[in-house]
Amino acid sequence: MEESRAAAVQELRARFAAGQTRPAEWRAKQLRGVLRMATEMEAEICDALHADVGKPKTEAHVHEISLVKSSCLFALKNLKKWMKPKKVHARLMTFPSTARITKEPLGVVLVISAWNYPLLLSLDPVIGAIAAGNAVVLKPSEVAPATSSLLAELLPRYVDSACIKVVEGGVSETTALLEHKWDKIFYTGNSKVGRIVMAAAVKHLTPVVLELGGKCPVIVDSNVNLHVTAKRIAAGKWGCNNGQACIAPDFIITTESFAPKLLEALKKVLEKFYGKDPLLSADLSRVVTPNHFNRLLDMMDDEMVSDKIVFGGQRDEQKLKIAPTIFLDVPLDSAMMKEEIFGPLLPIITVDKIHESFGLINSMTKPLAAYLFTRDSKLQKQFESTISAGGMLLNDTSVHLTNPHLPFGGVGESGTGSYHGRFTFDAFSHGKAVLHRGFGGEAKARYPPYSSAKLKIMKGVLVGKLGAMIQAILGFPRGK
Ligand code: NAD
Repeated sequence: MEESRAAAVQELRARFAAGQTRPAEWRAKQLRGVLRMATEMEAEICDALHADVGKPKTEAHVHEISLVKSSCLFALKNLKKWMKPKKVHARLMTFPSTARITKEPLGVVLVISAWNYPLLLSLDPVIGAIAAGNAVVLKPSEVAPATSSLLAELLPRYVDSACIKVVEGGVSETTALLEHKWDKIFYTGNSKVGRIVMAAAVKHLTPVVLELGGKCPVIVDSNVNLHVTAKRIAAGKWGCNNGQACIAPDFIITTESFAPKLLEALKKVLEKFYGKDPLLSADLSRVVTPNHFNRLLDMMDDEMVSDKIVFGGQRDEQKLKIAPTIFLDVPLDSAMMKEEIFGPLLPIITVDKIHESFGLINSMTKPLAAYLFTRDSKLQKQFESTISAGGMLLNDTSVHLTNPHLPFGGVGESGTGSYHGRFTFDAFSHGKAVLHRGFGGEAKARYPPYSSAKLKIMKGVLVGKLGAMIQAILGFPRGK
């Protein structure tokens, strides 16, 4: 097994070294291949996502297939622009010269993806890695076996399988892959394994992108459109894989006086979305495995919180389904408030004044996403300047990730590095500094034998007013 893995990596190295992945035409062809796969295989993909996590067809299309297609189209549209060297200002010190940043592929990269959006989280980084001209190994999650084996079967049919490979497997296969030298590792998953990935990368000084999770807070002020707020919270929580999403609202903070109104609005919306018996709804994903199901049951049946349920609580062990469940005023030292929930449980924490929520959030590890619902512009500004989070969204949840012009990634324990749109291309590229001179423009002052007069000239050129003036005359920006 290890031999075939090693042979695969070796082949990728050889293909990359031969320059096979570099031409724009090769990159565009592969991107069109991924696009074609996502288009022609929609039904098979939907079936696999349903088999893995009971994902409703609409969510499979909207949150996975369409986003993959849109990433391909965006990369295809912008590929030439992204690949073009970026001219930057020259400096007097090197006059005459031109300067540019040339994007070059990193080499052979490893993408390790997670089970909850097993298509999107696999292909979105791969799309950027291809666009940037790399050879790629994709290791999908074994916790979503149907999608993993579908990707292993389909990708080689649609892309250049000598340069883009899928290696399936779980912990031991991933551990073995991590032993190899990569030019970048892009990992999506929990922070415990993120640490393992980072430790493995250190051995070869391999740069990493870690797309991790955390507890995403939602602050709800009283100055809101209540019905819209409730719908958008519910859509971001239960409408995203039944809460099994990295940017799903993890807990709500609102004021004690507003909590009853918000709770009533959420109940109404949930009944409308999923009916009187949500366990029967086909629009709610199931929990992915019995282990994950039991972890969530332990969390909701914990005696610190079990009497705090104000809505839901139903579960079906056979179908691995848990209904949307809301808790009010759970203790901050309960497991529910200490661990990432990653499921359909939603605690509401109350504070006296809404501003107190900032301190509470900042006392926790930095989240992947933070949400605020309010019409109060002062509170909005304070939120933006006070809360550190991978990303933030005002008056909605989760949908910020659909904008390819925004980087998507964490900060602190919610991750390092970012991707989406051009940011994925950049994550898999090296921005090479290129300074280009001719043989003119010789300055004697630069060369030994040194003298105080030469030193004066050099200082003037580098930091003096005269140097700055000459730079300005020559069209160089001052002070840069
Ligand atoms: P997972 O169980 O699918 O694991 C992720 C990957 O890690 C898999 O490919 C798996 O094979 C590999 N892995 C597991 N154990 C390993 C080990 N010991 N050594 C090496 N590799 C190992 O997914 P998960 O971790 O349960 O995913 C859920 C977590 O991921 C949550 O914390 C969630 O917030 C986070 N997440 C983040 C994003 C994001 O974009 N930031 C997206 C989805 C999920």
